[in-house]
Amino acid sequence: MKKVKKDMGMSNSEELSASATSATSSALQRQRRLIVLTGPTAVGKGTVEATLLAQHPEIWVSVSATTREPRPGEIDGKNYLFVTEDEFATMQREGKFLETALVHNMAHYGTPLQPVLDHLEKGVPTILEIDLQGARRVKQRAAELGLEVLSVFLAPPSFEDLVTRLASRGTENDEERRKRLETAKIELAAEKEFDVVIVNDTVENAADQLWKVIDKEYSET
Ligand code: 5GP
Repeated sequence: MKKVKKDMGMSNSEELSASATSATSSALQRQRRLIVLTGPTAVGKGTVEATLLAQHPEIWVSVSATTREPRPGEIDGKNYLFVTEDEFATMQREGKFLETALVHNMAHYGTPLQPVLDHLEKGVPTILEIDLQGARRVKQRAAELGLEVLSVFLAPPSFEDLVTRLASRGTENDEERRKRLETAKIELAAEKEFDVVIVNDTVENAADQLWKVIDKEYSET
């Protein structure tokens, strides 16, 4: 601050006010920072997130709307907002989404905008776990919404690893698995578009690295 005062010939009160302004603007900037997490099917995004949230419950992960059927154990309002195609289309028409995508050519997914803005407003570290199309869309809309986006790609140790994980999950039929692996190839090829890449070699490692990224992002002024 001293340097600013000297360089710009500021008085003490001007110096204080400049310092307050800069503190306010950096706080505002922090509030508007958003983490977008993307990774191919079955890479383990859910498990990494669960580990991260267990250690850092102050983080909030956005709950998406989807038109796909719930998997066994998934809870409406917690894992997803499970909606019909009509309900989804209405939300879309009313501008309720930050982004939407037709994923794996099978179902619609979308991030409700208002809860994201509400959490950012309160300074809560906020993560969107969305696909590549959604990540691109959020980046496109960032300036318009005054958001600063940090995109993170969770990568598998290898493509074969994904195939094994998807098969062992056993929640999709052959056709769904084929579609998911097709999308995975496209997503893996787009890895370099992301600001940070984390390899999910072990869940603990990946969760730890993700936390370091979030912590840095939200503590920087
Ligand atoms: P799943 O059906 O396995 O839960 O998710 C399929 C894919 O949809 C994953 O890549 C997941 O990240 C993505 N996804 C989940 N919610 C959203 C969302 O709101 N928007 C977009 N674009 N993708 C989403």
